[in-house]
Amino acid sequence: MIIQLNSDISTQQKENLVQKINGIGYKVTEVKTQAGNYLIGIGKGAYDIRKIGSMDGILDIHVVSDEYKLVSKKWKAKPTTVDLGDGIAIKDGDMAIISGPCSIESEEQIERVIAHLKENNVTMMRGGVFKPRSSPYAFRGLGMEGLKLWHQHAKAAGIKIVTEVMQVSQIEEMHDYVDVFQVGARNTQNFNLLDELGKIDKAVLLKRGISGTIEELLQSAEYVFSGGNEKLILCERGIRTYERASRNTLDLNAVPILKSKSHLPVVVDPSHGIGIRDFVPQMALAGVMAGADGIIYESHEHPDQAYSDGQQTLNFTQSSELIGYIRKIFEVRKTFDLH
Ligand code: PEP
Ligand code: MN
Repeated sequence: MIIQLNSDISTQQKENLVQKINGIGYKVTEVKTQAGNYLIGIGKGAYDIRKIGSMDGILDIHVVSDEYKLVSKKWKAKPTTVDLGDGIAIKDGDMAIISGPCSIESEEQIERVIAHLKENNVTMMRGGVFKPRSSPYAFRGLGMEGLKLWHQHAKAAGIKIVTEVMQVSQIEEMHDYVDVFQVGARNTQNFNLLDELGKIDKAVLLKRGISGTIEELLQSAEYVFSGGNEKLILCERGIRTYERASRNTLDLNAVPILKSKSHLPVVVDPSHGIGIRDFVPQMALAGVMAGADGIIYESHEHPDQAYSDGQQTLNFTQSSELIGYIRKIFEVRKTFDLH
């Protein structure tokens, strides 16, 4: 059960509510987010929602039996818009394009990618400055120095920064230089990190775990949301299966399923999803048709020289072409009634 409280609820009214909910055998957690104040009731067994709903201090009440609550569509039917400021948003009914290298490598590279994005009217750039690498000997990112440099150029160009945060201790130093904190597939169930990201007022792009179910992704999202941060974007980036012909298995089933279960925007990452440069565009477009609210993919002026993930990275010609295709297919999708 989710109860949204009136902003002027008195302490006594809140206590009465907690007592009432405890009385039916439900445990209560209070949640405060940027947008509201809630009581989450967790328990089993039937109750009469009207008896609670008629009590003082309540704005809204819903029965949500899913493991995840506040991110559920049963709680909030209206899709969530994640506003990044300056007229840039990730939201249902729109097609966000987030493009850039796997790793931020140099100032020159930053400038070249930004120029490429500007040419194509793309306003969100991805890139890693802290890289989770399977091998400790691989390039692990330029760190804060790279992020600061990137931020200078991106800000001047009106481009938003999407970058991965790997651990709690990085959040504070990165905070002022980041527009969207990406949580990588290896960290989807790092609950300490999710808790801390719940406390900040910056958007979070949460990738699906390498072996994570859709349900687990939503429960991880619930951590951030119930920690206080409603600015969340879900990302399907492929899961590990027995298939070895592709890097991962991009589970496009997840897109309409997530959209039907949650009010949060969903983006698709075809680069990590298939891991093969030549097939990234096809999977990006399939993601658009599956109902994604955005596509995040890797681009680089010279993919073969990229410090990481070059094999799945598009060059600027391929990238420009894909941006055009994404926009075209999105226009087509909008003419279909596919809900
Ligand atoms: C990335 O975006 O470069 C990345 C490492 O992604 P993932 O966490 O999905 O593997
Ligand atoms: Mn990558």
